[in-house]
Amino acid sequence: MISIVLPIYNEEAGLASFVSELSLELTKTSENAEVIFVNDGSKDNSLTLIKKICEENKDFKYIDLSRNFGHQIAVSAGIDFAKGDKIMLIDSDGQDPPAVMHQMLAKMDEGYDVVYAQRIKRADESALKKLTAKFFYKFLNKITSIEIPVDTGDFRIINRKVANALKQMPEKQRYLRGQIAWLGFKQTAVSYERLGRNAGETGYTYRKMIRLALDAITSFSNWPLRLATLSGFFCAFIGFFLILYTLYARFILKQYEPGWPSLMITIIFLGGIQLLGIGMIGEYISRINDNVKNRPLYLVGETNIDPDASN
Ligand code: UDP
Ligand code: MG
Repeated sequence: MISIVLPIYNEEAGLASFVSELSLELTKTSENAEVIFVNDGSKDNSLTLIKKICEENKDFKYIDLSRNFGHQIAVSAGIDFAKGDKIMLIDSDGQDPPAVMHQMLAKMDEGYDVVYAQRIKRADESALKKLTAKFFYKFLNKITSIEIPVDTGDFRIINRKVANALKQMPEKQRYLRGQIAWLGFKQTAVSYERLGRNAGETGYTYRKMIRLALDAITSFSNWPLRLATLSGFFCAFIGFFLILYTLYARFILKQYEPGWPSLMITIIFLGGIQLLGIGMIGEYISRINDNVKNRPLYLVGETNIDPDASN
């Protein structure tokens, strides 16, 4: 069975047409399917509409979150409730065409654990959004040690193994595409053209996007914390030469204002020491940060050792 997780935030205008599109594609597969709507605190009539759809079809289920928790958490809730041996994550606004699922399912049959959809074109999105996204994914890949595929959203199919592994990551800051990349296993991509919305407008305000970006960076990189150490070393290095120059000016050139050499040396010296000190604290915090994330130390792909056999 495949579970289809649909996060919903103010989608009443386009939802019906998306659902009929999705239902049509589902009839074309041999898979049994359950569809899980996750209403993420919609302020419009999405919930009423969802309930109506669920009444008409027993394979459609819903979870109504108590308020707007954000897309990533809504999808996480859907994964928690999904029963299928495969789970498809897809936006409910029509931007991710359900027809791509056949290609993705074919890849799953080849033995992949994760098949994500990679967009080769993005319609209907502002130039600023495309530009910031492009820059951001490049930057993120530079500062993280895991490979987060570029040009992918959360549109993907994962299998039960990956879903269970994902549930072992208890972190509160969710960045699913990063977390799934972190998990490893066998992953591959299919490409698709990202369409425009069916109706309504984006629920991802720039505020929400910045928050997601910060979650992504802080969850997968300690580089910002390391910045203090790096700048400390850099300033201390420059400071050393400045101190030499100050002494040179004071004792050899004798071109100085009274009080200037001692002041300069104190400021440069203390500045360097302070940055290094902050950096040192940063190094410890980054390690604390790694530990409080409570991620599993490793995940096993395959073994022939019986996990239940005691020794
Ligand atoms: N969404 C959600 N909670 C939010 C914002 C968005 O569940 O707080 C859902 C939304 O209904 C859609 C998906 O997440 O199905 C992607 O959101 P959106 O289309 O607004 O983002 P964009 O495609 O513009 O990046
Ligand atoms: Mg969208």
